[in-house]
Amino acid sequence: MAQVKALVLREAQGKVSAAIERIEDSALPAGEVTVAVEYSTLNYKDGLILNGLGRLVRSYPHVPGIDFAGTVERSDAPGYKPGDKVVLTGWRVGEVQWGGYAEKARVKASQLVRCPAGMSLKHAMAIGTAGLTSMLAVMALEEHRLKPGGEVLVTGAGGGVGSVAVALLARLGHKVIAGTGRPELQDYLGKLGAAGFIGRVELAKAPERPLQAERWAGAVDAVGGTTLAMLLTQLRYGASVAACGLAGGSEFPASVIPFLLRGVNLLGIDSVLCPTPRRVEAWARLARDLPAASLDAITETAGLADLPDLAQRILAGGIRGRILVDLSL
Ligand code: NDP
Repeated sequence: MAQVKALVLREAQGKVSAAIERIEDSALPAGEVTVAVEYSTLNYKDGLILNGLGRLVRSYPHVPGIDFAGTVERSDAPGYKPGDKVVLTGWRVGEVQWGGYAEKARVKASQLVRCPAGMSLKHAMAIGTAGLTSMLAVMALEEHRLKPGGEVLVTGAGGGVGSVAVALLARLGHKVIAGTGRPELQDYLGKLGAAGFIGRVELAKAPERPLQAERWAGAVDAVGGTTLAMLLTQLRYGASVAACGLAGGSEFPASVIPFLLRGVNLLGIDSVLCPTPRRVEAWARLARDLPAASLDAITETAGLADLPDLAQRILAGGIRGRILVDLSL
């Protein structure tokens, strides 16, 4: 019986702990397509799951990892055959279903997308859930008339969603202002294409007035909280913010005045249940607009054994860019 290496979470007396184990192939949950996983990643949500937070996992033992890329090994679904290169993000895989922190994963065919032509599996996971979310945010802003010219704010710029958004928007010709709480990342963010910086504290001040001077032609927000409330007051007439994350809080004390007097838009971004045609469109855009080389500076590689430590660091806001998990390490 074949065995696969996996990072397994177990719960005892209300405490969740992680260990690398060898599990029987037959222990993998039922599913139409078995994928030999080559890469996964560490996202903020993985950080919550690895630390037993957020009530995201329903039962233990559990294999986390909310995204992965690999090669189809076996398929009972007409759309996929052995050898196909595939990517999975979202659908609550790694939460209610076993995920990508194992050498093999078994999932529904409808949860997969094909790795875009010309994109390696490694490139796809350097992007991962965070990068897909950034692309969905940029697409939503473009559909709401964002054009290069004005300043576009990215908050939480040093993190996964933020770093990819900075690189992507800069490559698309936008003047990107990176909002970060880590001044030491200015060099890094500048190399990704940021044209200027704004401090986290300045962005997170509770707005004193419902309208402030118009500044942002658009914004990608990974932070939420008072940061989102603040930037709504500073959007230019008719501009939009794509709300992606809650690293700074899930509630925001905002006024409706910017919507009524400036016609601004608050665009919700969801990568988890995003319909497949939209994902395919976003991956095609990523293949075109974000070459592998532009992600080199963003990505650090880790093995399964590094994840418990890295999971604590991502919750503390201490990870820069993206963590690629190489299953062969
Ligand atoms: P990261 O931890 O990599 O990035 C978050 C960044 O936010 C940090 O690097 C830091 O940037 C900033 N930050 C952290 N803590 C705070 C704080 N208390 N106040 C203000 N800023 C803070 O996470 P990801 O990039 O993986 O995810 C970012 C957010 O997006 C998360 O909330 C995540 O849940 C959400 N998300 C949503 C998705 C969706 O489908 N909508 C999909 C993927 C992620 P800096 O140091 O530069 O200030």
